[in-house]
Amino acid sequence: MRVKKSLGQHFLKDREVIARIIEAVDPRADETIVEIGPGHGALTSSLLERAGRVIAIEIDRDLATVLRARFGDRANFALIERDALALDYCAIIAPATRARVVANLPYNISTAIVQRLIEDRACLGEMVLMLQREVVWRMVAPAGARERGYLSVLIEAYCEAERLFDVPPRAFRPVPKVWSTVIRLRSRAQMAISVSDEDFFWRLVKIGFMQRRKTILNNLRRAEGEIGESIARVGGPVVSLALAGIDARRRAETLTLEEWARLAHVLLDARL
Ligand code: SAM
Repeated sequence: MRVKKSLGQHFLKDREVIARIIEAVDPRADETIVEIGPGHGALTSSLLERAGRVIAIEIDRDLATVLRARFGDRANFALIERDALALDYCAIIAPATRARVVANLPYNISTAIVQRLIEDRACLGEMVLMLQREVVWRMVAPAGARERGYLSVLIEAYCEAERLFDVPPRAFRPVPKVWSTVIRLRSRAQMAISVSDEDFFWRLVKIGFMQRRKTILNNLRRAEGEIGESIARVGGPVVSLALAGIDARRRAETLTLEEWARLAHVLLDARL
């Protein structure tokens, strides 16, 4: 079958890597597992041996046909032939109220999928994901690290992250240009900080990282809309940062989650 590069298709061939991922997941007979992008079923077949139910989401119709032929007669297998970015995860896992996610993600949309999964974290307790190694570094980058960005703040706020192991390109066919890393994300019961308006908070973080090479001050100067108005009401970006106890010469990548929260509080307090 022709490999579709546009769908990020790199299929796992290495049995040892497959076994390590399954061990990391350790599926239980009483649970539902959601697998995103099952491909030919490299992980699916072991998941089906051990999990109570496996819901596989595959966008490629040709692969869906392969999967149906291979696993269609298993009572605990369900296939959803849809785009994983456009699904309501809490709805598809019903009647279960909580499921775990396993995926060797297509690299081109991996961060978008992670963000989508985090949105539905109320019903997705844990995720074992394989992504491009550099993306995982960005996900777990602490304040002060060069790789720190919006994604790192997002993961820190909503998940406990654990890097599990790296996977070399030779474990896949076709062979990708990059290394991969398997990561475990556990959804936190509550956001790690308390903010009264999460949507406002994330718009602020996005503005802070708008131009990575600039200082937080320069990025805040460019803020528009509701956040720009709050900054103006406080007395401008210099005053806003001073009230939050943040040196205006710093860059967004140096801010801790708590500092982002402090800045958001200053601006939220000034909101009409
Ligand atoms: N899990 C398989 C493996 O490890 O061999 C395949 C992994 S491959 C990196 C990514 C898989 O995700 C492919 O099967 C691809 O068709 C599928 N895929 C790509 N974009 C998708 C999307 N938006 N929704 C669902 N599946 C998608």
